[in-house]
Amino acid sequence: MSIIENLKNISREIPAGVRLVAVSKTTPPGIIQEAYDAGQQIFGENKAQELLAKQPVLPDDIKWHFIGHLQTNKVKQIVPFVEMIESVDRMKLLKEINKQALKINRKVNCLLQFHIASEETKFGLDIAEARQLLSSEEYRKMNNIGICGVMGMATFTDDEQVIRKEFVNLRSYFEQIKSEFFNDQESFKEISMGMTNDYLLAIEEGSTNIRIGTAIFGARNYQ
Ligand SMILES: *Cc1c(COP(=O)(O)O)cnc(C)c1O
Repeated sequence: MSIIENLKNISREIPAGVRLVAVSKTTPPGIIQEAYDAGQQIFGENKAQELLAKQPVLPDDIKWHFIGHLQTNKVKQIVPFVEMIESVDRMKLLKEINKQALKINRKVNCLLQFHIASEETKFGLDIAEARQLLSSEEYRKMNNIGICGVMGMATFTDDEQVIRKEFVNLRSYFEQIKSEFFNDQESFKEISMGMTNDYLLAIEEGSTNIRIGTAIFGARNYQ
């Protein structure tokens, strides 16, 4: 099936209020342009170098979400144009984003990434670390960060029960953090969860932002 058909089919399945991030990692600019021409405006990349190579050759009004592990020395280059950094998993990173955003008088939207999977290899905060971060003096002084919600990746498994439970956990972290730190802030509203294999489950469990690559662009070629 074509990319346009894939996008159409996915759009039909997702309710209003759920945003689709087309994960374009490893996909060349020409193919991303095709998806853009079909009306897709939000794209996700997980490597700074790759994003920096693609961004200048693609339309300016693309909304780029950064979704991968981000090294602090790459922050400066992506902060001027990135729409959202979904993968904030440590204080040091948040500090650097704030610092670089302040320099250019920008406010950068971020999500806190939680570790919800059973795999140790995946990145993310636990709820205690998130609380510690959000209640720190340091965080409260950051004026160039807008924390809009949470993000997580479920375990890579066929076991629906396992995945569902992890999504339920992420939603519960969202609710707790919202009530403790962002109760009066409408902009804290995103639960980013769900990929090609689990996005329907994620939507059932309250996702507002799904990140889909393979179901749009086909299997990735990592050479
Ligand atoms: C690659 C990736 C996705 C998309 O995965 P698919 O299974 O291809 O849909 C979503 N989120 C993150 C963080 C990713 O790295």
